[in-house]
Amino acid sequence: MPQPVVNIGMVGHVDHGKTTLVSALSGVWTDTHSEELKRGISIRLGYADCTFYKCTNCNEPECYTSKPECAACGTKDLAPLRTVSFVDSPGHETLMATMLSGAAIMDGAVLVIAANEPCPQPQTKEHLMALDIIGIKNVVIAQNKIDIVSREEAIKHYNQIKQFVKGTVAENAPIVPVSAQQNINIDVLIKTIEETIPTPKHDLNKPGIMQVARSFDVNRPGTVPAKLNGGVLGGTISQGTFKVKDDIEIRPGRKVEHEGRTRWEPIATSVVKLVYGGDSVEEATPGGLLAVGTKLDPSMTKSDALAGQVAGKPGSLPPVWHKFVMKTQLLERVVGVADEAAMVKAISTSEPLMLSIGTSTTIGVVTSARKDAAEVALKRPVCAEVGSRIAISRRIGARWRLIGVGVLSS
Ligand code: GDP
Ligand code: MG
Repeated sequence: MPQPVVNIGMVGHVDHGKTTLVSALSGVWTDTHSEELKRGISIRLGYADCTFYKCTNCNEPECYTSKPECAACGTKDLAPLRTVSFVDSPGHETLMATMLSGAAIMDGAVLVIAANEPCPQPQTKEHLMALDIIGIKNVVIAQNKIDIVSREEAIKHYNQIKQFVKGTVAENAPIVPVSAQQNINIDVLIKTIEETIPTPKHDLNKPGIMQVARSFDVNRPGTVPAKLNGGVLGGTISQGTFKVKDDIEIRPGRKVEHEGRTRWEPIATSVVKLVYGGDSVEEATPGGLLAVGTKLDPSMTKSDALAGQVAGKPGSLPPVWHKFVMKTQLLERVVGVADEAAMVKAISTSEPLMLSIGTSTTIGVVTSARKDAAEVALKRPVCAEVGSRIAISRRIGARWRLIGVGVLSS
């Protein structure tokens, strides 16, 4: 499979069919974690690649497919369009932090809305708001599960969607009725993604920087030390290139406690392997989800331990912040809750906020608050450029709720 060139997020309310749609497109079931299988919901970020093709014999839209064979005429003589990586988000309300770290690596998104429930459901709203805050403008709406509603119900639901997206980034987003489970209209969805979510342009001449969204220990339990694979980072390159044998550093790195004091030390290692989908490459460029094999002790990367960090050419990574000032802009109302009346109150000194910056999530305690800015002290440092967007959440009742957007200023 060619290297993927674009990351497309699957977002939306729990159970609306995101994982099923990724599977209909890519053939990959992304819920493989044991807890996910047991509970039947996505917990971690999932990802899967597929190539979109166009059949040269058939008419639109039947000619669009993600299978190596045309569903309409059966030919294998297909013209490849591009390879895409899907980022499958969890839709459960308690997993917003995971959704937000995934949104940081999306170039565009498919908002999945099930037609058999009134629109919007709480996380349909909260995920769309998150796309808006993070600045993802290219959105396709998949109106899913049309196999279990009548034509009249589907039209009524379509009108609810139109009403709901008014005034949001998705106001003019195309709406494609599909059934992920019954493979209905997937060709139209591919055509619409091709027209709506362009491949972003990246600067290959800048030093390589990767946003780490996942990290793994890929060894089976009981592997003898001599045969252990080094730790693996999963994420996406935001600029430049990565090559096998490159030295890299990872920031903020690891927490070191010494004589009662805590500091964070960058981690130095080198690239052993670069893998897209199942294919090893010698050199990797931005676009698509990449796995980077390193020389790190796998215990350092297991269970997403390095998720939220930044990897890249030593000496060229963004600064690491232990506290910062952000300009803030709050929403008028809290989204994603059943109680629509909840107004967002101003940020106050000493309150804890959950801050999502790039793929990282950290708690920031407010040390000083003004109307349109706040200074926060972070529980975990972050590596980020000045000007980075920050999704701000506040604890309301038992959950963290999105309340606004910040921009890292100093
Ligand atoms: P997610 O939480 O958004 O990832 O939702 P899943 O993909 O896990 O799907 C939730 C449930 O809806 C599963 O039981 C799916 O089989 C079912 N489902 C997904 N897509 C469709 C569809 O198009 N039609 C019908 N009837 N069921 C669907
Ligand atoms: Mg899912």
